Formats: sequence, C-alpha cells, structure tokens
Amino acid sequence: MAVLLAGSLTTPGFAAAPTNLPPPVDQALGRELLKALIETDTTHAKGSTGLASALAARFLTEGFAPTDVTLLAPPDHPTKGNLIVRLHGRGHAKPVLYIGHLDVVTAKREDWTSDPFVLTEKDGYFYGRGTIDMKSEDAAMIESLIRLKREGFSPEGDIILALTADEEAEGDANGVEWLLKTHRELIDAGLVMNPDSFETGLIKGQKLYLGFETSEKVYATWQVEATDKGGHSSRPTPANPIYRLSKALAKLSDYRFPLDLTPTVKAYFERRAKLESGQLAADMESLASPSPGPDAVARLSDLVDTNVLMRTTCIATQISGGHAESALPQRARATLQCRVIPGEPLPTIRAQLVKALDDPSLVVSEVDLSDESPDSPLSAKVMQTVEQVTQSLWPKVVIIPTLEAGASDNAFTRIKGIPSYGVDAAWEDLQDGRAHGRDERIGVEVFDQQVEWTYRLMKALGGQTKPFG
Ligand SMILES: [Zn+2]
Repeated sequence: MAVLLAGSLTTPGFAAAPTNLPPPVDQALGRELLKALIETDTTHAKGSTGLASALAARFLTEGFAPTDVTLLAPPDHPTKGNLIVRLHGRGHAKPVLYIGHLDVVTAKREDWTSDPFVLTEKDGYFYGRGTIDMKSEDAAMIESLIRLKREGFSPEGDIILALTADEEAEGDANGVEWLLKTHRELIDAGLVMNPDSFETGLIKGQKLYLGFETSEKVYATWQVEATDKGGHSSRPTPANPIYRLSKALAKLSDYRFPLDLTPTVKAYFERRAKLESGQLAADMESLASPSPGPDAVARLSDLVDTNVLMRTTCIATQISGGHAESALPQRARATLQCRVIPGEPLPTIRAQLVKALDDPSLVVSEVDLSDESPDSPLSAKVMQTVEQVTQSLWPKVVIIPTLEAGASDNAFTRIKGIPSYGVDAAWEDLQDGRAHGRDERIGVEVFDQQVEWTYRLMKALGGQTKPFG
C-alpha cells in the first residue's frame, strides 16, 4: 500500500484525490472498522460485550494506555458491555464526550436482499444492519480518534469516546444511563456530541443542510380504560366500553395540541425557509416571526414533518377489549403515546388529554413517563464550528438547529446539565430513511466523507480552549 501510494503521488497527471475524502490509509481503516462492526451481531439478544472488547484490543494496539481504555458492563447484564476511551488533552478545557451506541435493532435475513450482518457493497452503497443507525458513525468516530492519536494531536481538553450498550431496547441496561449513574467520572464532560440523532437535508440529490439537534421531545405514555358490568350480548346497552372508548379515541384523533414553538424550532423554520421556495418558504418564515399567521400554521400542521415540531402529539398505539364473542364487554383499553414539547409540564398534557377524550367515565392512568430533559442552549460557538467544518467539505451546506421528535441518549446527558448536541454527515435522502428498516444502507462515498468530516470536527472542537461558554 505504501509503495503504491508513493508511486501515485509522483506520477505526472495523476488526479489528486478530492479534498473531502480521508487519506487512503484512513479511508481503508474506516472501511475495515465498518465491516468489523456490521459483521458483529449486536442485537438485543447478542449484546455488545464481544464487540466492545474487540475494539478495546484495537485501541491498545494503537498505543492507547490500558488506563485510558475501559471496558465495563453492569454486573447483572454482563453481555451489555460499554467501552470508554480517552485521548488526553492539556487540561485547558473540559472534556468533549462523543457517544455512539453499539447495539442495533433486529434484522431478519428473509426480509433483506442481502445478509444484514454481512457488509455488502452494491451499486455505490454499503448495505448492512447499522450502516445508518449507527455503526457508520461509530466507525467514523473510532477511526478519527485513532487518526488523532497517530498524529500525536494534543487537544485543549480530553476527548472521550463512549461506545455504549442497549440504546435501541429502551433498555434495562442503557449504557449512557448506567455510566452516568455508576461511573460518572469516566464520561464527565463539558460538551456531548452524539451523531445518533441527526437529520441530513439531502433533497433530490442536493446536499442542503445538516440538522443540529439541541433538544428532544419528552416521552410519555398513558392508558385509557372504559369498564362496565357486562352481560349477555343479546341485551345491548349504551354503556358498552368498546363504543365509549371508540368515541373518545375518535375525538382524540381530531384534537390538536396547542401551538408551542421553542427557540430551536423558530430558528429551524427561519433557516429552512431560506432553502425552500414559494408558499412553503413563506409559511416557514411566518412561523419564525413573532406572530405566526393562522393560515401558515394550518398548512404546516397538515404536514407530518413540520407538525411534530410545532406541538405535542398523543396518539393511540394499542387497543384491547372484550372477553368473549357472545358477551357484552366489561373492559376496553387503549395505550396513548405522547411526544411532548420540552418544557411543557406532563400534568398539563394529561389534563389536555382528558379534555380531548371528553368522557369523565374513562380512567386515564400513567404507564411510562420519562424525566423532562431541558433544551441544550443554542450555542453559537459550537454551531459555528460545526458549520465551518461542514463547509470545508461542502461549501454551500448550512447548519440548522433541530428538535428531535423521537429520542436518543442525549436525554440522559441533558438531564445531568451537560450541553448535548446531535449532528452527523451520513447523508441520506429525507424521503428514504432506512434506519431500523430493511436494506439499511449508506453511500460508499458518503461513508468515506463522513469519516473525514468526523475527524475534522473532532479536531476543531478539541482545539478550542473555551468552546462552550
Ligand atoms: Zn440509533
């Protein structure tokens, strides 16, 4: 490889590699890591300890001190291993923590065109479970840390990489939650970067923007139940719990929670408007203004992608009822899953839900309420750094703050008061998201550039003395 490289560099007329690809040795290492990660099954049943210990060995080979490579699993979940690696800085700034989960959701061979646990290159894409969520990001972060180590880079503050377990299972052994509880000192930081929670504005083949996730909706689940004394099905009554529940759910399906635009969402619409045209651009501009127009609100509420940013949503996700074919039902139940705008108190959401269901005979009870995690500040300095790094690869791409409608491990670090952001350059079409689905894939060139982008970002953030004040 070295001989080949030296030759190609001196050959006249040999086209220089595009500047947004990593050097060949790093490109090769990135791909090698991606293959190793994809081809180690880390679904819930298998766990992550095997992969974490293989990676630990790799870091040691690269010259990281044994005291800076820590493999840890909860004693009651030995297969849910986490790996924490530290590159020492000069102590001039608080550490920057990078988080990447090692686990993936299940994939069935028969659903896929190729084996989901074999990295398969086809038509310019790498296919495999985790190519988007999030083993390509893990590979890029591991490669970058090794590259910085090889270069002898000395950051202002430590750079920590935590490769963690059990993010997807909504876990009994979530690595970030467990490490914060039991080994906080190992991952304590002034800033968290987590590429799990990303949005890439690739629209009709054009790279327009990268989302910069500053906040997440809060997860809350309630159950609503109707009951009755029941009886024989030949003697119907109006108290039938299935009918009462159905009527209430129909009302809920028509209900819209109040408009609630956070500073992140306002900034999102302001920047998105500049990338759009016509009515959509005008509507987004209106939402970003101090007093959004009702028509603009109505139009954007009709689009799934924008509606979820504008308000809390609660929907029925499961339903059950009745006990026999020939009996009046005694019970009917539905699960209501809410995604709440950060800052809205859960008791208020419950009250709105009860009002929307509009039947005082129904009983609403709590199933699972997550802790409220605050927004991370819209840090101009971090955003600027991300934008500069991004524009060094793609000069026209802008950074747009985002509210994540789903959830990631950032919720745990935000609750602990650490500013936490989600951003990544795994460019995928907004209309063709395959994370958790079949034939998950990443473009080959997209992956190579993601490796380079991650390296430049790690270096830029690591080189700052007071990046986050
Ligand atoms: Zn993920």
